[in-house]
Amino acid sequence: MLFDTHAHLNATQFNEDVEQVIERARAEGVSHIVVVGFDRPTIDRAMELVEQYSFIYAAVGWHPVDAIHMTDEDLGMIERLAAHPKVVALGEMGLDYYWDQSPKEVQKEVFRKQIRLAKKVKLPIIIHNRDATADIIDILREENAGEVGGVMHCFSGSIEVARQCIDMNFYISFGGPVTFKNAKKPKEVAKEIPLDRLLIETDCPYLTPHPFRGKRNEPSYVKYVAEAIAELKGLSFEEVAQKTSDNAKRLFGII
Ligand SMILES: [Zn+2]
Ligand SMILES: [Zn+2]
Repeated sequence: MLFDTHAHLNATQFNEDVEQVIERARAEGVSHIVVVGFDRPTIDRAMELVEQYSFIYAAVGWHPVDAIHMTDEDLGMIERLAAHPKVVALGEMGLDYYWDQSPKEVQKEVFRKQIRLAKKVKLPIIIHNRDATADIIDILREENAGEVGGVMHCFSGSIEVARQCIDMNFYISFGGPVTFKNAKKPKEVAKEIPLDRLLIETDCPYLTPHPFRGKRNEPSYVKYVAEAIAELKGLSFEEVAQKTSDNAKRLFGII
């Protein structure tokens, strides 16, 4: 049983064949998928998918790259959807200093508003971080985000940063990069961090694991992430699959 904790089946790249993609995931032992919305169209599509498939759950939030476009109405919509039984987290949210579409100060404000909302509705948060580690850690601390906890998605930082996040009640999630030969840091962190704090994800259609790197990613490939972690930790594939699923269910409150 595999739990893909971060998939964008709501992305337009899956418009043509989402049913087949989901069938392949089931055939490869994927038992649960969290589809992550990050703006109006992707949140709407995530909510459609949770109605269609019993094993699909949603996270709703606003992406930092697009922070400049988030209105109070959007935040109100996220709050309303948070009451839906299959919305298991808020996010993805965070900071992205790689793309300069939204000014840093706007990103920080939108991030803080979503953390405060998550505490109000009592849901964990899914954090997106690109080139912004120090500011993310500061904001999580200042806002006392550990009260709800959550997941550092597609983690690419150091062991020290991973430990700080775990101390703040966050899980560390790995995707395709942990399967890449040259990905030293994710491999080191995956090896060191206890299995009871790890999650797996695809972030599909992006970040496709080896051996399909360069092609469109999909949830069935999450097994390659579990295999890579099992090899690094000297554990069986089954144990990694089981424990990361248990972790995800605990975090997202899924029975
Ligand atoms: Zn992300
Ligand atoms: Zn994502």
